[in-house]
Amino acid sequence: MAMIVRDCCPECGSTHYKKNGHIHNGKQNYQCKECGREFVLNPEPVTISAEKRELIKKLLLERVPLRGICRVVGISLKWLLEFITETYNQLPDHLNVRAIENEKDVIIQRLECEADELWSFVGNKNNKQWVWLAMDVHTRQIIAFHVGDRSKKSAQQLWKNIPETYRQRATFYTDQYESYAGVIPAKQHRAVSKESGKVNHLERFNGTLRQRVSRLVRKALSFSKQLKNHIGAIKYFICYYNLTKTQEALHS
Ligand SMILES: [Zn+2]
Repeated sequence: MAMIVRDCCPECGSTHYKKNGHIHNGKQNYQCKECGREFVLNPEPVTISAEKRELIKKLLLERVPLRGICRVVGISLKWLLEFITETYNQLPDHLNVRAIENEKDVIIQRLECEADELWSFVGNKNNKQWVWLAMDVHTRQIIAFHVGDRSKKSAQQLWKNIPETYRQRATFYTDQYESYAGVIPAKQHRAVSKESGKVNHLERFNGTLRQRVSRLVRKALSFSKQLKNHIGAIKYFICYYNLTKTQEALHS
C-alpha cells in the first residue's frame, strides 16, 4: 500500500507534532502542536483483513466519527487515513452512473435533470464551499458534481463534468440562480422556482448527503479540513448512492 499520510496525532490526525521527551521505557514521546495530545508512534499491524476493509468502507458511509471507526475496528487513525485516501483516489470519475444503453432509450424517455447547489463548510465557517450537483430525474442518479465557489465558473465546471449525452439532449431544471444562464444552452434550460416542485428530488438528496457525509457538518480532524478530502467524502457517497439506484432499477 502506498504510504500517503504521514504519521499523525491519534487524537486529531494532525501531522504537526514535536518531540517531547521519552516515556518510561525510553521510547520517544511526541506532543501534538494542534490539540496538545501526547503520544508515542507505534508500529502498524502488518495486515488488515479484507473483511475488516469492507466493514470500514461501510462505516465510512455512516455518521460515525473516524476515531469511532478506529476504536470499533481496532485500527490506528494513521492507518485509517491512509486507507481513506487510497479509497478516495480509486473512485471512478463516472461516479457509477448507469450508461444510457441505446438511442431508443433516449428517445422513449426524455432526459430530464435537476441542478442545484448546497453550501458546506470545510474546516471553519470562513471556508464556505458550494457543492454543485446534477441529477437525472428519472434514474435519480447524481450524474455530476463540483465543489467550489458560487460563481459562473463553478457552474461551467459542473457542466463540463456532465456526461456528453446529457449535455446534448437533456432538459435541465434549476432554480432562478443566474449562474446557469449562458452555461446550459437556453433551449435546454428551464429556470423554475423552488415551489414548482421541479427541483425537489435534488433537495431531498441534499438532505441525505448532509446526514450521511458528516464531514459536511463537522470539522473534528485536520484531515477532514482539507478540501480534497472533503471532496473525496462527497464523491465516495455519490458513487455508493448511484450504485444503490442501479440496483433498485434492476430489481423493480
Ligand atoms: Zn492532535
